[in-house]
Amino acid sequence: MALISEEMNKALNNQIKEELESGYLYLGMSYWFEERSFHNLAHWYYAQAQEEYVHAKKFMDYIIETGGTVELQALKKPKSDWKNFKEILEAGLAHEKFITSKIEELWKLMEKLGELQPRSLLTWFIDEQIEEEANAQELLDTYEGFKNDQLFDHHTHRAE
Ligand code: MG
Repeated sequence: MALISEEMNKALNNQIKEELESGYLYLGMSYWFEERSFHNLAHWYYAQAQEEYVHAKKFMDYIIETGGTVELQALKKPKSDWKNFKEILEAGLAHEKFITSKIEELWKLMEKLGELQPRSLLTWFIDEQIEEEANAQELLDTYEGFKNDQLFDHHTHRAE
């Protein structure tokens, strides 16, 4: 018998979709910057997109480890008609806040079901979301300081 309940399995499959949609959103942002030759920001968002696939994999591996079934869902088309840098940076921050709320919902579901096995997995994501929100906020704050697209791009390096 599987350790994972059907309800938790379904909720985690949904979270896989959220993480992959995050990756899809950031991939689009990356190529918005690439098209305009802002290579550092393009690289920053590309690396961010790749991280989201690692996030999705953590949920997929957990489901398999606990005897569940990974069922991938359709991804929605991400927004791509960005007006400017600020709109992208604000959308990135808002998106990570949304993801944080989804992780919190999973924690509440875990408690409601009394199904405590995913606690380590979800604790990792709660910590990760602190970092994701902080990074997105810092990017926005830095941009507000520069108020210049070229200088901001030049400044944006990402440690791998
Ligand atoms: Mg994520």
